[in-house]
Amino acid sequence: MSLAEVKSHIASSCKQAKRDTSSVTLVAVSKFQPTEKIEALLKQGQRVFGENRVQEAEEKYPALRIKYPDLNLHFIGHLQTNKAKDAVRIFDVIETVDRPELAEALRHEMSKQNRELPCFIQVNTGNEEQKGGVAPKYLAELYRFCKDKKLNITGLMCIPPVNDIPDLHFALLHKLAGELSLKQLSMGMSADFDTAIKYGATHVRVGTALFGARKDQAA
Ligand SMILES: *Cc1c(COP(=O)(O)O)cnc(C)c1O
Repeated sequence: MSLAEVKSHIASSCKQAKRDTSSVTLVAVSKFQPTEKIEALLKQGQRVFGENRVQEAEEKYPALRIKYPDLNLHFIGHLQTNKAKDAVRIFDVIETVDRPELAEALRHEMSKQNRELPCFIQVNTGNEEQKGGVAPKYLAELYRFCKDKKLNITGLMCIPPVNDIPDLHFALLHKLAGELSLKQLSMGMSADFDTAIKYGATHVRVGTALFGARKDQAA
């Protein structure tokens, strides 16, 4: 799909959900995509992007930022604490805070670099063993910890289990955010962003629908 087509899908999902189109931010997920494709979207006005690996973002984005200083880069992958320093330097938003040690490392680096990044807490809504994200039952505790550390938590993020119907996960994330009075919900990918918008997504993370299949994707 072209950028215009994805945006028009978002607009019609918003309309069906009786929501304002401006309440949904499209995060263009550019992992494994070459700089030329990213720049093509920048030229069309897209400014918000997502990457899931610190090193890859480091290779692609600094040069683009010089040309497009207002671009906004979201980290959406698993973040190791020893990469917190680079992540705080390169990214504008961290969507995957999921444990106290990471919150602590981010706090430390943000203070050191004098950069305050908005963060989302990633919730493992499917309680999957291999997946990042805090289990729903520990969310409130982690949220309090982040607040105490003065991390700016603006919302919640989830990646539903691949083989589940996403509806229940989106509904759960919506409910959890409400309980904590958090306004932002990052949920929905290429296959299900329309559903996510129905359940209140404020950020949809769309990769393949925008860029086409990812080339040379590592396991
Ligand atoms: C890759 C990725 C996406 C985009 O997935 P598509 O199905 O290509 O749209 C969204 N969110 C996260 C966390 C990802 O890693």
